[in-house]
Amino acid sequence: MTKPNSSPSIKWVYDILHEAARNGGNAPTVAQFTECLQINRDAVTRAIRILRDDGMVETEVHNTRAKQRRYYITELGKWTGYCEEKKRSTRDCITGCGSKFKSEGPHHRMCPRCRLDKSPHRFIQEFGNMNGRVLSAGGA
Ligand SMILES: [Zn+2]
Repeated sequence: MTKPNSSPSIKWVYDILHEAARNGGNAPTVAQFTECLQINRDAVTRAIRILRDDGMVETEVHNTRAKQRRYYITELGKWTGYCEEKKRSTRDCITGCGSKFKSEGPHHRMCPRCRLDKSPHRFIQEFGNMNGRVLSAGGA
């Protein structure tokens, strides 16, 4: 269990890692986390960092070139399988907004800004990013 005051993204990331370790499955890549949870890369890495700081999760990078990574879930005493982070290439945003961004792969065609605009979790994310300062609706 995550701490009661943890943000939703931390709970989601933890639940996914917990499930992977419990079932002996591979950990998702950061790209898979962003795709599955519809939160941005920073939110994923921040959630993982907080879980590590809290002693809930440990990470181990097996091969620094291939960036194979696995996670240890303290609560379970189990490791997930390794995931392999793919190299990111630069791509033009599919919406035609003119942004170039680091793509995670063929499925990742929208820049972080456009993606965030379309995300159902946008409010949660902005709320978190602003350290709890309440935003007016539709401010973009
Ligand atoms: Zn865009």
